[in-house]
Amino acid sequence: CIRELDAWGVGRARKNGHISQVQAPGHDRPRCVYVDFVNTGPAVSKTLRAQLQRTSGVRRTGDLLVTELALADGACVGAHAVHIATGRTITIASKATIIATGGLTRLYARNSASLNMGGDGYALALGAGAELIDMEFVQYFPIGHLAPRLVGMDPIMWDPFRYKLGGKLVNAEQREFLGEEGRYATARDHATRAILEEVAQGRGSPHGGVWLSFEHCGETELRAAFGPIIDRLKANGIDLTRQAIEVAPMAHYHMGGIRVDADMRTAVPHLFAAGEAVGGANGANRLSGNAITEALVFGRRAGERAAALAARTPMPPAVGAAPARAAKRDINPAAEIVRLQ
Ligand SMILES: Cc1cc2nc3c(=O)[nH]c(=O)nc-3n(C[C@H](O)[C@H](O)[C@H](O)COP(=O)(O)OP(=O)(O)OC[C@H]3O[C@@H](n4cnc5c(N)ncnc54)[C@H](O)[C@@H]3O)c2cc1C
Repeated sequence: CIRELDAWGVGRARKNGHISQVQAPGHDRPRCVYVDFVNTGPAVSKTLRAQLQRTSGVRRTGDLLVTELALADGACVGAHAVHIATGRTITIASKATIIATGGLTRLYARNSASLNMGGDGYALALGAGAELIDMEFVQYFPIGHLAPRLVGMDPIMWDPFRYKLGGKLVNAEQREFLGEEGRYATARDHATRAILEEVAQGRGSPHGGVWLSFEHCGETELRAAFGPIIDRLKANGIDLTRQAIEVAPMAHYHMGGIRVDADMRTAVPHLFAAGEAVGGANGANRLSGNAITEALVFGRRAGERAAALAARTPMPPAVGAAPARAAKRDINPAAEIVRLQ
């Protein structure tokens, strides 16, 4: 998948003609590839969209919010959706359906998510009769920005800073409590736990996190590594040569999700899932860099299996409109979460 994406023009960083690789915390060797440190995700999305444009036989549609899956005799036969611009409801019939709606971290007060990561896919899957697993396994990004106020910049931008410059993660006593000695080496789950422990022991920063400092780096080193980003930080009133910033864990990724088999099939016939919507591939903690690769590798598999099934399945007869939903006032959400776990 890495080579294929490269052939499609994703533009990975290279050194001496080879794709550059960095070692992320928790990895035992350098195996993370990137485009540039802050643009890998958008570059991958753009490349996939461009490749889709070049591919014939794929009909695309947008601005639809899927609200429910359509079922017939227990099998998935399509989806009901709302057209966001007009509010019109529509129904799509399908021979095979893949849920690829991403994760749920938007549900958390502090998160790195975009607006569309509210866990819709889990509700769609559950409503259709599929199973969910490991729903309690949410990954926290340990060094999400906390203070001072940062406008228009990614709250997890300190990750690339640590890759390139190391940085010192210190508590209120100015002690590097992770024992990293300026290296970026601790996996996210361990770092998150350690930060929360420092705060609980009264050694946190004023806003309830810890300090991340690049004050030992000179202006020249910072500019060589991050050029225009240093100016954008200055526009936010942040001068890294003179001040440490406060960081704290924020919800970043969901290891749990829809249960699938090795062919990415859910428990509902003709319903597949892929990407962050799927649970179980990472256990209780995901290592950096494994999410996009997981989405690409298992996304391909889901697509191939769904296409093969569709090729031998007749189009379902007209799918009816979404059934009117009965108000579920008797459901206690807290009790429901405990039951599902
Ligand atoms: C800030 C940030 C940085 C990251 N950096 C990295 C990284 O460097 N390396 C790495 O491996 N991973 C990284 N990750 C994780 C990785 O990007 C995600 O796990 C991955 O993109 C998930 O891909 P996906 O296709 O499954 O879901 P998404 O990319 O989230 O796409 C889901 C799509 O489904 C749509 N959708 C959702 N609900 C509905 C609905 N009801 N109806 C219709 N459409 C719907 C959404 O609008 C969205 O377009 C990062 C995540 C974040 C938030």
